[in-house]
Amino acid sequence: MRIGIGYDLHRMRDGIPLRIGAVAIPFPRGPEGHSDGDVLLHALADALLGAAGLGDIGDAFPDTDPKTAGMDSQRIVEDALRQVVDRGFEVENVDAIVHAEVPKIKPYRDAIRSSIAGLLGVDVERVGLKAKTGEGIGEVGRGEAIAAEVAVLLTETLRGKAT
Ligand code: MG
Repeated sequence: MRIGIGYDLHRMRDGIPLRIGAVAIPFPRGPEGHSDGDVLLHALADALLGAAGLGDIGDAFPDTDPKTAGMDSQRIVEDALRQVVDRGFEVENVDAIVHAEVPKIKPYRDAIRSSIAGLLGVDVERVGLKAKTGEGIGEVGRGEAIAAEVAVLLTETLRGKAT
């Protein structure tokens, strides 16, 4: 078994679409970023790569590359998953925390869990998601930023290619 963690934070700005776990959330502010700024998917991709000892999302998708500007972050997760599977791992479960003062994430929790489960090809019961506010303090609490933490557990498949 291999465990991985991922973390991401993006600054929030007016007039940018908000997507969390590839779910569009109606809100007048969203994350600045080179891609679509999906903090949860970026943290997830880093957790997948980290669990398999494969670096981070900046290696495959540098934020200096014009080709990745505005890209759908689902592609980043798909790429990370492919690398992990190619090395003989499968996803056992995922647990995640989204840190956001606003909007409230809870109404979207199950949609986000389903979205991530679909991306990873696992049952939705294998995806945990919690939402936390910043208690009104710090960059998250002031609504200036949104962040996510993700833990992933991988297991070696019977192919046994993992090293
Ligand atoms: Mg990011």
